[in-house]
Amino acid sequence: MSDTFVPVTKNPPAKVKDPGIIALVMAGAGVYNAKNAELLLLPEGRSLLSQLRESFFASLLSGPGFQPSDCMDSETAVYSLAERYVRECGDRALLWSQSQNRLFRMHGWFSDFKAAGGSAAESMAALKNALSAQLKDVSFVTKIVPKKERTWMIAAETEKGAERAEAGYRCASCGEIFCADSRFESKEAPVNAGAAAEPVTDVHTPGTHTIQLLCEYLNIPIETTLKAMLYTVESPGGGKKLLFAMIRGDRDISVSKLSAWLEANDPGATFRRAETAEIVESFGEVAGFCGPVGVPDNVQMVADVSLKDGKNFVVGGNRPDYHRTGCCWGRDFEPPLADLALFHEGLPCPSCGGKLEETWLRNLGEIGVYQAGAAGETTLSCRDRDGLREWPYRLSAAISLESVLLSIFERRMQKTAV
Ligand SMILES: [Zn+2]
Repeated sequence: MSDTFVPVTKNPPAKVKDPGIIALVMAGAGVYNAKNAELLLLPEGRSLLSQLRESFFASLLSGPGFQPSDCMDSETAVYSLAERYVRECGDRALLWSQSQNRLFRMHGWFSDFKAAGGSAAESMAALKNALSAQLKDVSFVTKIVPKKERTWMIAAETEKGAERAEAGYRCASCGEIFCADSRFESKEAPVNAGAAAEPVTDVHTPGTHTIQLLCEYLNIPIETTLKAMLYTVESPGGGKKLLFAMIRGDRDISVSKLSAWLEANDPGATFRRAETAEIVESFGEVAGFCGPVGVPDNVQMVADVSLKDGKNFVVGGNRPDYHRTGCCWGRDFEPPLADLALFHEGLPCPSCGGKLEETWLRNLGEIGVYQAGAAGETTLSCRDRDGLREWPYRLSAAISLESVLLSIFERRMQKTAV
């Protein structure tokens, strides 16, 4: 080992923002080729990467039972392994792991959603265990993405500008971490839960084109307003319709969550913001004062879960310069519900109600659970004495070992600095 090349340098690499790359290079574990954005690993870095890979293989085998394989990073090759052995070997042939090119992948086939979800939970525990000595603060953050029933992003906090960094939110009270499109499963009370239901009343609100202007004009709290977003949905069959998506006035709609909802309800459909002419065609001349009461039949509606059971909302009046007050969920409008809220700073933590603060998350990889058919994959099946057996649910995961390595070096540098 005395001959190992470890060129420790006191100068950080030029033009690099990622604290992980800076730490790795300064420790002599690799060099960064800024021109091609390539991280070249020297002996120390290569050795740690390979240790990570082997500890993932071992931990995922001993816990959830993923069999290590080398399938040349091919999804079809792993599928062929499962198909070849499942009749003879049963469940043991349904879980495989493989790793090439600094990526670690997991593949699983399951008879039902519960089994797939259970395996995902076991896998996350196994990965956390494998990383426990090197990266203690790894988080599994829920994320709503199209075609996947459940997805978790494997994340480590970092700084803005780091490789694979995306906006994240940390609860100042309980410490839980979320990303912009995390599941918003909260026990918060409905808006005006304790109030008596008022009658629906049309109110003249000239010029209140924004929620802020409306709140000032009527002197009302923002959470009692309703934000309406209109989209044009184009179905794969060529059909076109208007989609009215709504959320509390103090929240924003996540395009990714809306896309996941639409994919589940109208597979293959695409959507974009509706043009004025398209809105006029359905609603008539409403000039931005769209509301959920008295919506034309041909308009599809969806509401964020935060609106459920709320009372006395102030909504668009479906005619220029008018709003309606006293609109109640269930009595006046009740469209299908979906989790649509985009996370942002200041939002209450869904788990404890604490305040969310901004952070940055390095995306180390993702684990997803989904139905093979919905994702356009072949359902694994075989025929045996009992007839046809099927495993329609999938677990798949892709983890960037390079990103894990960068987060480990980032932590090491932070420890030295403290
Ligand atoms: Zn919290």
